[in-house]
Amino acid sequence: MTQHIVIIGASHAGISCAEQLRNLGFSGAITLVDRQVGAPLERPPLSKSFLGSTPEKDEKFLLRRPEWYDRFQVTMIDGVAVDRIEPETHQIGLADGQSLNYDKLILATGAIPRTLPPAAGLGNVHVLRNPDDAAALRRAMQTAATAVVIGGGYIGLEAAASFRKAGLNVHVVEAADRLLARVASPDISAFFLGLHQRHGVKIHTGMTGTKIDHKDGIFTGITLDTGQQISADFLVVGIGVAPESVLADAAGAAIGNGILVDRQMRSTIDDVYAIGDVALIEGAVLRIESVHNAQDTAARAAADITKTPMPDMAVPWFWSEQYDVRLQSAGIVPVGKDDLRYAVRLGKREGGMSVWSYDQDRLVAVEAVHDPAAYMLGKKCLENNVSPAPSDAADSAFDLKTFATGASGVQQDGV
Ligand SMILES: Cc1cc2nc3c(=O)[nH]c(=O)nc-3n(C[C@H](O)[C@H](O)[C@H](O)COP(=O)(O)OP(=O)(O)OC[C@H]3O[C@@H](n4cnc5c(N)ncnc54)[C@H](O)[C@@H]3O)c2cc1C
Repeated sequence: MTQHIVIIGASHAGISCAEQLRNLGFSGAITLVDRQVGAPLERPPLSKSFLGSTPEKDEKFLLRRPEWYDRFQVTMIDGVAVDRIEPETHQIGLADGQSLNYDKLILATGAIPRTLPPAAGLGNVHVLRNPDDAAALRRAMQTAATAVVIGGGYIGLEAAASFRKAGLNVHVVEAADRLLARVASPDISAFFLGLHQRHGVKIHTGMTGTKIDHKDGIFTGITLDTGQQISADFLVVGIGVAPESVLADAAGAAIGNGILVDRQMRSTIDDVYAIGDVALIEGAVLRIESVHNAQDTAARAAADITKTPMPDMAVPWFWSEQYDVRLQSAGIVPVGKDDLRYAVRLGKREGGMSVWSYDQDRLVAVEAVHDPAAYMLGKKCLENNVSPAPSDAADSAFDLKTFATGASGVQQDGV
């Protein structure tokens, strides 16, 4: 019988799972443990509004209000890392010497930023993952004139937009030949390139040999492949994350690019689940890193533990905000394959557009900027497993609404 559930990691996945467990009627004890000090904050604002805000206002970024912990009867242990899992005795060990027994253990340990070896250990070099990282960056912004961001993915670009808004000179350096190369369609990459250039950000793509310049252990700038030297006050390294699977690995769980789990989020160790950014679901092509996925996988683990109906696997979705632009994306944008096709649909609003990505004839993702209606319709098509022909998707006069709801759609097999 499950009396005590321990959740390691009190961020989007861990908190959501505790909440779902209560919503589904679990009445035993729930303990959340996180090595971050203080009440958990939301992650998405950390590269956006948090950087333009002030410490007195940090309360507005709380993931849950203080009263939530009482209301949901969740015990929170913060500021202590878990350093071992003992599956045989159903115990975990904390860095302060405590041990906790569990009946079910949920690993919501997320991911950690990849480091750039030549910049490792230098002063004025930042990553952006946890509230502490964002607070340090916000302090650095106060006295800086020029920032370099290495990595033109969503987090790097969001940070670049925040720095420009604060009046800094900004350089973004990307090794691939386009921004967002691993996560977005070419048209969306081009859209964000233009957006940042119009805001005065200097974008350097195709830079595979960037040198990090430093003096006395402090970052001073970069030298690009072209020989151009750029002096800067700080560097943000935004080159992706690695799953924080070290505890599970040491305990003997099967690990790939994440903790391997089945569709109920069960790891290969009895009574141990993994959810959120750290989990890799069997059969999935990749690990998903988004708030929606954190919540969705939390709900699946909670349903399994409480023996309540398993929610359907949802279509993944994601958003990004840069300047006054909101991107919404549904599905997984395919990259690096031969048979990809794209349709661009102009939106009703000025500057609005959506990109519909196809793997052969199958619609697999829709990305929309300034066009929430197209995003909703695209998501509906993906949920209903119907693919409009690319020429129809690109035709603003085509009635996508009727099509998306299945009235005239052709169901596809096998998703
Ligand atoms: C700056 C930023 C902006 C983002 N913007 C967006 C966005 O716009 N839209 C979107 O959908 N997603 C966004 N994301 C992604 C989203 O925030 C993540 O997918 C989400 O936070 C994953 O939640 P998680 O709980 O799985 O992991 P995490 O948020 O990584 O949390 C893991 C927690 O586990 C704790 N932990 C790890 N190991 C231990 C241990 N051994 N002992 C104790 N505690 C431990 C960590 O301290 C951490 O608090 C953004 C992420 C970042 C960093």
